[in-house]
Amino acid sequence: MNIFRAIKDLQKELDSFRKKKSSIGFVPTMGALHTGHIELIKRSESENVVTVCSLFVNPTQFNNKTDLQNYPRTETADLDLLRKNKCNIVFIPSVDEMYPTDELLKIDFGSLATIMEGAYRPGHFLGMATVVKKLFDITMPDTAYFGEKDFQQLAIIRNMVKQLDIKVSITGCATVREVDGLALSSRNIHLTKDERKNACVIYQSLVDAQNDYKNELTIEQIKNQVIKKIEHGGLFTVQYFEIVNAETLQPIDSISFSKPIQACIAVLTSKTRLIDNIALNSI
Ligand code: AMP
Repeated sequence: MNIFRAIKDLQKELDSFRKKKSSIGFVPTMGALHTGHIELIKRSESENVVTVCSLFVNPTQFNNKTDLQNYPRTETADLDLLRKNKCNIVFIPSVDEMYPTDELLKIDFGSLATIMEGAYRPGHFLGMATVVKKLFDITMPDTAYFGEKDFQQLAIIRNMVKQLDIKVSITGCATVREVDGLALSSRNIHLTKDERKNACVIYQSLVDAQNDYKNELTIEQIKNQVIKKIEHGGLFTVQYFEIVNAETLQPIDSISFSKPIQACIAVLTSKTRLIDNIALNSI
């Protein structure tokens, strides 16, 4: 496994693969790796000759300074895990390497970016898109792999690739969960013992919403039940729960079985914030 910290060194290495027409798969991450990230790596390895993983906690996508400071950084463990899973190349740039200037991408995601995460994390998606675009320009992969766990992020990346005509194919990968259903997240380490024990209620509520949707309860009834169930024990607060068109991400106000519908949620705990989502009606 080769580790690069400088853009030009990484590019030199990747150029040699590109000359041999070896396909390059790319998995961008912020480190603190878990099985969810590793599934993306494995998918890339199964579809490409070379897999590149980046570890970079991107400051421009954090709207909250404390969140950035507290974000887990576990480089040694990450490298061990990547080595064990036979990742070929790891890119670990510094903030200065990625941001010689602090200019952000100029792009308008319209209503895709103004709701849910966009409403509660102003500037988050512009920062995220900026770093992904920079990483695409640096690595020039054939395919990049993203988790459906960050459903809105995936929609925005697909939109960016379309708007900017970026020649990278985007693959979405299913959310990896703990046995009790909690979506794996680098932020789960911030849960207290009690919160961790009860956090499965988030996924359970999403599964309930899926059943309620099939049974044609109203959108309002489904929403109320999810919020009530999650907030019941007093440990969690639902920041938002939206039932949206899976392509436009716009909230729907009545049940539809003719288009893909997704339920998306953000939950506040004592020290962190968790997001999750589920397909209510996959077409
Ligand atoms: P992050 O390091 O949190 O920025 O995540 C890096 C990539 O891993 C993103 O594409 C995430 O959507 C994906 N990811 C994070 N958690 C999971 C999970 N539980 N299952 C699948 N993919 C995930």
